[in-house]
Amino acid sequence: MSENCIFCKIVAGEIPSKQFYQDELVSAFQDISAQAPVHILIVPNQHFNDLGEMGDAQADILGRIAQVAGQLAVQEGVSSDGWRFVTNIGRHGGQEVFHTHFHLLGGRPLGPLLAR
Ligand code: 5GP
Ligand code: ZN
Repeated sequence: MSENCIFCKIVAGEIPSKQFYQDELVSAFQDISAQAPVHILIVPNQHFNDLGEMGDAQADILGRIAQVAGQLAVQEGVSSDGWRFVTNIGRHGGQEVFHTHFHLLGGRPLGPLLAR
């Protein structure tokens, strides 16, 4: 748990969120400012600032995140039309919350990958 990290507090249940999934490694919850009909954040329970801090030692966590993303896409009804799974890192990536998280987005055509 990292002090003053909003996602650590959500994982610990100290800040309320609409939760989609939680196990011993990962948690998935609703983005507070959804950009699409389905916008779920999937995070490791343990604090890492970003994906760049994670590696071989976290292969189990990263594998679980990918698996849960696929499951939630089916559960939330976007698997047939398609969805996007992204993580932002650092300033150029536009990262705002410095606890690794992946955005599961779907439910409408998502447009080009990058803003022009
Ligand atoms: P980033 O820009 O770091 O990739 O994405 C951060 C995401 O976290 C944003 O989509 C933002 O809406 C979401 N977010 C920020 N604060 C909160 C919060 O307190 N609760 C939830 N559920 N999502 C949050
Ligand atoms: Zn954290």
